Amino acid sequence: MSSRLLKVDMHVHTHPFSPCSTTTSHEAVEAAINAGIDVLVFTDHDTIWSGHEIDELQQWAGHQLRILAGIEVSCLEGHFLVYGLDTIDGLRYNMSASDLILLARRRDAAIVAAHPFRFSMENGNYCYKLDIDAVEVDSSNTTQTAGALARKLAEKRGLPRIFASDAHSPCDVGRYHTLLSAPIDTISDLIRGIKTANSR
Ligand SMILES: [Zn+2]
Ligand SMILES: [Zn+2]
Repeated sequence: MSSRLLKVDMHVHTHPFSPCSTTTSHEAVEAAINAGIDVLVFTDHDTIWSGHEIDELQQWAGHQLRILAGIEVSCLEGHFLVYGLDTIDGLRYNMSASDLILLARRRDAAIVAAHPFRFSMENGNYCYKLDIDAVEVDSSNTTQTAGALARKLAEKRGLPRIFASDAHSPCDVGRYHTLLSAPIDTISDLIRGIKTANSR
């Protein structure tokens, strides 16, 4: 019997942690509930929410959706979503992707290439050589051309495809989501889900 599938938006930016975002965390929660999202994952730029901050927001949100936190790390080669880090220790702005991957592997975190062909072909192509767990193939910041290249990357590498909003405003929260098997209650559940996404 297959388990229930949950709608997961695992790439959302909030203000003020991401200065480029106009969405407060409360607005993001309300927008996610309205969009029918089951699991909302904040991935602010080079910043990570503490467990205490997430717990407080989860209490405010109630049981309608689960809130988790990852991080979007700005590397020389492009942006990477990392799930499973509880501190930014060891991270540096514009560090190399290979250094980030080493650090993430030591902490059993999952790494997803965020909008890999958004900035340039070269940066996206670099992902062919990296030890990543999945590829974001569609988001509110992915053009058709970049999305097609990302799908090709995922297919050639045999990597799971991630759909996520990359929302910076409330109207984009939940616009894209990935279906993952329940339960997704913890970051470990999310990591397991990412690694097996689209495998059904
Ligand atoms: Zn980005
Ligand atoms: Zn982003």
